Amino acid sequence: PPDVETLGRSTWTLLHSIAASYPETPSRTQQSDLLSFVGLFSKLYPCWVCAEDFQGYMARQKPQVSSRDEFSQWLCRAHNDVNRKLGKPEFDCSRWDERWRTGWKD
Ligand code: FAD
Repeated sequence: PPDVETLGRSTWTLLHSIAASYPETPSRTQQSDLLSFVGLFSKLYPCWVCAEDFQGYMARQKPQVSSRDEFSQWLCRAHNDVNRKLGKPEFDCSRWDERWRTGWKD
């Protein structure tokens, strides 16, 4: 299996990419699918300490799935929670669109 860092980098790419393609105004089905996905993801993620902490985070901060903007900002805060834990710099969530959806402006 990949190491925790390689797995993490790839997984964040997948999660932020899912957020980037999530609709601005999702249907009820799309909202419940996303909620199910993150719930199951947090149980199946094959780094068990990571998964446990992420489930704890989700219990404190309920996933926001009402729009792309809400979900991407929730995910950005979740990623920053892990960054803090690992002593990595926090990401400026106002730049999330640029990083994951529209591309850097410079
Ligand atoms: P990553 O954190 O993988 O980030 C990749 C890229 O995303 C960055 O280069 C940056 O451009 C961008 N980015 C950074 N922060 C944000 C943000 N807040 N919002 C949007 N984009 C951002 N590792 C552990 O050792 N222990 C853990 O408990 C742990 N828990 C994890 C839980 C989850 C759910 C996931 C997906 C990963 C977890 N990891 C954990 C892995 C860890 O988060 C990193 O992926 C890994 O350390 C590699 O870090 P990196 O510096 O390459 O950048």
